[in-house]
Amino acid sequence: MSLASVILGLPELEVERVDRNNAIAVYAKPRQRPCCLHCQHPRIRIKATYQRTLKHTRQGNQLVTLYLRTPKYHCPRCGRYFRHRFKGIRPRFRASEAFRLEVF
Ligand SMILES: [Zn+2]
Repeated sequence: MSLASVILGLPELEVERVDRNNAIAVYAKPRQRPCCLHCQHPRIRIKATYQRTLKHTRQGNQLVTLYLRTPKYHCPRCGRYFRHRFKGIRPRFRASEAFRLEVF
């Protein structure tokens, strides 16, 4: 399985590292910082970063685990906090028959 097939369909992600042992671990983060969800302010700050673990099981193949760095943002204009929303990840994986996604 190529790296391209792992990240295909996740254009918002920037892959930082891939470890290949018995399983494949992909470390990724958002490619771009969004505007504020509440007031569309373009210059928000990262307040903290969490790691989300998404486990894919490729049919009859190797296990792929995606470690997603998920920033929590603070907007200096409206003062609100929100987490990064990865567009398309969960609907896309749910829709795929080749992958089964579990969120730990
Ligand atoms: Zn705002």
